[in-house]
Amino acid sequence: MNGDVQKKAAIDWKEPEEVVVLPRIPILSPGPGGTVAAFITSPKVLGVQTHWVGKRTRPHFRDTSSCEGCLLGNPMRWKGYLAGMVPPRGLMVLIEITWEAYRGCLALQGKCGDLVGRKIELHRMGQATNGKIVAKVSDEVAEAKNWPTFDVREALERIWFGERPKASSESRKKVKDLLTDLVDGIGQPGSFDDR
Ligand SMILES: [Zn+2]
Repeated sequence: MNGDVQKKAAIDWKEPEEVVVLPRIPILSPGPGGTVAAFITSPKVLGVQTHWVGKRTRPHFRDTSSCEGCLLGNPMRWKGYLAGMVPPRGLMVLIEITWEAYRGCLALQGKCGDLVGRKIELHRMGQATNGKIVAKVSDEVAEAKNWPTFDVREALERIWFGERPKASSESRKKVKDLLTDLVDGIGQPGSFDDR
């Protein structure tokens, strides 16, 4: 009997933790022949090795025996990411940069100073969805105080490992419409890519 009392007292009761599902930040990348633009809100490019796996960009893992892309024999592709903001409503976006775009742009390589407040334009050449991307970063720096920003690494981890909000298809469509609408103001509509 006494043992039961002790056992009961040792039960690990636990209040549920608060469920926080943060919204996913859409990836900004131009469609075939298209141009997208945003203002940069992170100081430098965060690079990551990735694979293209089943129509999605997935991270490459150092332990190749547990890397789905390596196991499938898919080639590794470097991708760079920046935090971005699209006016006028300040929509936050993840700006995705290819190796070719990075290689062809000194500003992205950090050779022209801090990137925060500069405008970036990404143009995809040709009519293929995987066509070469050219990046152009402005010399002018906008006053970026009070602009919304976010942690790029955390935002990517949320895309790759995060929970998907329940009403995802509807909310994704809303963001897609909004993003196309907003990007229209400073460039041609681009693609909204929730990978
Ligand atoms: Zn891999």
